[in-house]
Amino acid sequence: MSRAYATRVAAVRRMSPHFVRFTLADEELRHFHTGGLDQRIKLFLPRPDGTFPDLGLWREPQPSLMEWYNAWRALAESERNPIRTYTVRDIRPAEREIDVDFVVHGTEGPASAWALSAAPGDELIVIGPDGRHENAGAGIEWSPGTATEVLLAGDETAVPAICAILESLPETFTGEAYLEVPSEQDVLPVRTASAVAVHWLPRDGAALGEPLTAAVRDWGRRRSEGAAGGGEEFAEIGAEDPLWEVSEPEGFREYAWLAGEAGVITALRRHMVKDLGLSRKQVSFMGYWKRGRASS
Ligand SMILES: Cc1cc2nc3c(=O)[nH]c(=O)nc-3n(C[C@H](O)[C@H](O)[C@H](O)COP(=O)(O)OP(=O)(O)OC[C@H]3O[C@@H](n4cnc5c(N)ncnc54)[C@H](O)[C@@H]3O)c2cc1C
Repeated sequence: MSRAYATRVAAVRRMSPHFVRFTLADEELRHFHTGGLDQRIKLFLPRPDGTFPDLGLWREPQPSLMEWYNAWRALAESERNPIRTYTVRDIRPAEREIDVDFVVHGTEGPASAWALSAAPGDELIVIGPDGRHENAGAGIEWSPGTATEVLLAGDETAVPAICAILESLPETFTGEAYLEVPSEQDVLPVRTASAVAVHWLPRDGAALGEPLTAAVRDWGRRRSEGAAGGGEEFAEIGAEDPLWEVSEPEGFREYAWLAGEAGVITALRRHMVKDLGLSRKQVSFMGYWKRGRASS
């Protein structure tokens, strides 16, 4: 169950050339409890004049996701505020704060533009879990089931999720994490109690997805040499592949979690299932953004 939080920027920290960390504060964030991991949230960004439309978010009880979404859709396009999906990087209910890491990629996208100019005191509406409800964990896709040998792979938009997942893994987990970032300066500190090896892959001028694809293909070659044993029969994946599929790999030893630019991630998933023989049930993949297309 999710709810809306009327947060204000408490702190802005430029982590690196392409990552900006926002600490958001609101008294109600004391109810923001979740399993962490890749917990996604929705951000309501202000309209160009700094205001938000009235979607009845603050009445009690708050409108359901469907209700506010329908109200938002019913607005004239010029009245709508941008809504984008992000990951909560850290949660501190006792301090009534959460952190969100934004990738800044210029001012074309409203979220990136906001992150480049927002300052303490600015408003941001967050739709996130309400820990007082049973299914507060909705919006978490990481689900290794019985698997403890993992592959995590993503671009910079998946860095907050991968880092939060790594920080939560106990020492029983092994495997590899590949994080493609725009430059060497975008490598961020991350700690894990697990035995998962963390590999940062700065693009430093290479094409988007190239270092990640090479690393995952290399992982596949090493895995095949070690004859890790494939999953069940794979199904042919066509051109109309979904951009998002998650699963619970009960009974498997290996689990892969892939997120980032949709074209790059779907190609990697296809490679893992079609060429490497992993079961679709072992591979969660999420198109976090699509090159050349604004999210909504
Ligand atoms: C579950 C989930 C979790 C996510 N978590 C995070 C997160 O924690 N941090 C984060 O930064 N992003 C995250 N994203 C990705 C983020 O939602 C998209 O990058 C989004 O498009 C950014 O919105 P925008 O307004 O900046 O750009 P849009 O208006 O959506 O896009 C404008 C243009 O910019 C391009 N674009 C969008 N994102 C990027 C990018 N990163 N680099 C280069 N070009 C881009 C688009 O292709 C489009 O051409 C997540 C997405 C999902 C689905």
